Amino acid sequence: MNRIATPEGTKAILNKYPFAFQKKFGQNFLIDPRVLDKIIAAADITKEDCVIEIGPGIGSVTQALLENAGKVISIEIDDQLIPILKEEYGHNEHFKLIHKDVLKVDLKSLIEEESPNRKIKVVANLPYYITTPIIMMLLEHNLPIESITVMVQKEVADRMASKPGNKQYGAITVAMNYYCSTSLVANVPQNCFMPRPNVDSAVIKLSLHEKSIVDVDNAEQMLKIIKAAFSQRRKTLLNTLASNGNLGLDKEDLKNALEESGIGASTRGETLSLEDYAMLSNFIDNYRK
Ligand code: SAM
Repeated sequence: MNRIATPEGTKAILNKYPFAFQKKFGQNFLIDPRVLDKIIAAADITKEDCVIEIGPGIGSVTQALLENAGKVISIEIDDQLIPILKEEYGHNEHFKLIHKDVLKVDLKSLIEEESPNRKIKVVANLPYYITTPIIMMLLEHNLPIESITVMVQKEVADRMASKPGNKQYGAITVAMNYYCSTSLVANVPQNCFMPRPNVDSAVIKLSLHEKSIVDVDNAEQMLKIIKAAFSQRRKTLLNTLASNGNLGLDKEDLKNALEESGIGASTRGETLSLEDYAMLSNFIDNYRK
């Protein structure tokens, strides 16, 4: 079968079926086979793996996933694409298509039903309008996911891999560090897609930590502190946590917790690492007890 992730392969599918691109679904189909090869190699997929693909589109990535994985579950929202995917891949017993908004899928139950004994690898050329909610959903729900290899906007990739003190460093960077390690697989220019997006893209691989890399007693609280700390970047940590943290401490106790932890009350959230936030969360716990 010809590869769909080429200009000719994509045109052939688009000529074969009725389909109109839907901007609201972030549809930019991959037409560069070299980029596809890099995605598949980075995801390190074997016949032992079950892959969840978000947004298969016309199947450009799905085709390669089916060649390499033991099972592929693809989740697609657009009605128009369902008959195309069924016609092209429905006969493959290793393929399962879910017609739904990925944010409304109960992934835990889906994984238990479809692939109870396998670790999951997620692979996707993500729709950019919901990149962060999708990634956070995958990370926060304690799913048996080993890695997430995804195409995202270059700007989002830079934010995820940023370091304390950098302009791009934000709550998402610190939260990501808590759940996984991030590596850049490839930068992807606009001409690798049909239609061309307005922004450059990048493929990143998120490898989920098997166990926590920080010593934190209450991870939920730590993540709340991180979110609050970046909500008003110009304010000091004391002021922003006092007004947005909802941590159940008065300002005086908060100040003491910050001073005792060695972080200091006048520090700004953007200079702190994940380890600093874990330590601060533990100090705040002590004040509440
Ligand atoms: N995987 C294909 C490729 O690489 O050519 C298509 C990628 S395209 C950037 C994003 C895909 O996600 C589209 O097929 C779009 O319809 C689908 N999509 C958009 N929003 C979605 C959602 N909420 N749930 C599931 N799929 C969605």
